[in-house]
Amino acid sequence: MSDIEIARAATKKPIQEIGDKLGIPSEHLLPFGHDKAKISEDFIKSLSDRKDGKLVLVTAINPTPAGEGKTTTTVGLGDGLNAIGKKAAVCIREASLGPNFGMKGGAAGGGYAQVVPMEDMNLHFTGDFHAITSAHSLLAAMLDNHIYWGNEQQIDIRRVALRRVIDMNDRALRQIVCNLGGVANGFPREAGFDITVASEVMAILCLATDLKDLEQRLGDIIVGYRRDRSPVFCRDIKADGAMTVLLQQAMQPNLVQTLENNPAFVHGGPFANIAHGCNSVIATTTALKLADYVVTEAGFGADLGAEKFFDIKCRKAGLKPDAVVLVATIRAMKMNGGVAKADLGAENVQAVKDGCANLGRHIENLKKFGVPLVVGINYFITDTDAEVQAIKDYCEGLGVEAILNKHWSDGGKGIEQTARRIVELCEGGTADFKPLYPDDMPLLEKIETIAKEIYRADNVIVDNKIKTQLKDWEEQGYGNLPVCMAKTQYSFTTDGNWRGAPTGFDIPVREVRISAGAGFIVVVCGEIMTMPGLPKVPSAENIRINEAGQIDGLF
Ligand code: ADP
Ligand code: MG
Repeated sequence: MSDIEIARAATKKPIQEIGDKLGIPSEHLLPFGHDKAKISEDFIKSLSDRKDGKLVLVTAINPTPAGEGKTTTTVGLGDGLNAIGKKAAVCIREASLGPNFGMKGGAAGGGYAQVVPMEDMNLHFTGDFHAITSAHSLLAAMLDNHIYWGNEQQIDIRRVALRRVIDMNDRALRQIVCNLGGVANGFPREAGFDITVASEVMAILCLATDLKDLEQRLGDIIVGYRRDRSPVFCRDIKADGAMTVLLQQAMQPNLVQTLENNPAFVHGGPFANIAHGCNSVIATTTALKLADYVVTEAGFGADLGAEKFFDIKCRKAGLKPDAVVLVATIRAMKMNGGVAKADLGAENVQAVKDGCANLGRHIENLKKFGVPLVVGINYFITDTDAEVQAIKDYCEGLGVEAILNKHWSDGGKGIEQTARRIVELCEGGTADFKPLYPDDMPLLEKIETIAKEIYRADNVIVDNKIKTQLKDWEEQGYGNLPVCMAKTQYSFTTDGNWRGAPTGFDIPVREVRISAGAGFIVVVCGEIMTMPGLPKVPSAENIRINEAGQIDGLF
């Protein structure tokens, strides 16, 4: 059965019953239909004195086209913890609408470890991304309007930093010329569109702790520069208040359920390259007040996703993770061991062993953050006992337990052993979380620390222009920000085809950008795409409403 067929057959409970499990009173659970709800600001505020539950991160080896299953494992582990009698919730990201019509799979998990309603979640959901598009568009409109009416702030129209956004894969909009048409339409200038999830407004919504913090951070967005290079902020063109109004409802975390009727928070969805790639801080902190165990996911592999989860999200939100599940698959180990995608079906124990070096490096890296971990092998039906044993043996050699999980086919009961182990790790009190680098380390040193400690590069290559830019930001008071690495997710290096555990390479930095509202410096290493295109045959060609009124073709 396909993911959508399994999701359709789900027996969902009314969302109030899911809220009841977490003790959310009905006046504070704001329903969006029968199976989705938002949680009120007042209720969230009232929780501040409560004790936090335990926080578990699900991350993975470097992704391969073979598929890893982080979301599937996150959802499965939430169900597994509930299955062994714990009060657990999951926290994952919302889906970007654009890529669903291209080629990407859904964002709701897979098999018997899914969040429902998956169709809504992959489409308009509760409108959060539309609100973000609107808030960002308001800022863009007010910026050009400010220039049109005399440009009091003296924005250099060659140095407008803000791009526009839309939640669609549309390469035609990557680079545009706007304000054409003469005097009545303003000053022509080059501009462009990013996809909504790449908006700084998205990253801000995901890091803001409440509405006040949201407004403050929106005000801090740098929209452009004057001729003397001084920054012009969103606050200077007075858009921050109205943007906050547009985002008020979007700031409330969404509650839905898993196939096994357990609570799932689905909120926010920043890009994992130019932003930090985690669900919202407000959803995670709320879930921690309401559940004893919260399982969450970070985008991409552990070198990018987990590092940013720890060094950006946890550092900034004061979160202290208690345990990590590092997801690996036999198929991905084989690809890391040099096997082509078409040959993954055949048993190849040696290739699994060869590929384990990638897993091993992620294990060593995760240990540097002081959080205990377990390796979760996401079982595929083609995996053989000998291959599974090879991973287990390898991990044992590194002093880490690897457990085979069958949540994709069996739901929560297929991952109970990992759930028990996670409870032991959380209750054992061995976690002693620390970020990789301190706030006051110079920006360039932060980049070097990540490149050397996590990627194992020999050198970071940075030209003088970039060094000067970093120094300027330090002088302007941005030196204590964390850095957000934008790099290929497929390799520790900047070459996406170089799998395994490479050594003897450098990390060239192409460009640095500041997200002053979100609160990080983006370090671009290699090509990054902020407006995807559609493939030759987009999945949209097969998406339609069938005779029974159901949506077909959405995975
Ligand atoms: P990630 O979060 O790492 O990107 P997902 O959990 O979203 O990955 O899974 C990606 C796709 O792989 C989904 O369509 C899911 O159904 C599929 N998948 C995950 N685990 C398995 C498995 N064990 N067997 C078969 N398919 C799987
Ligand atoms: Mg995922």
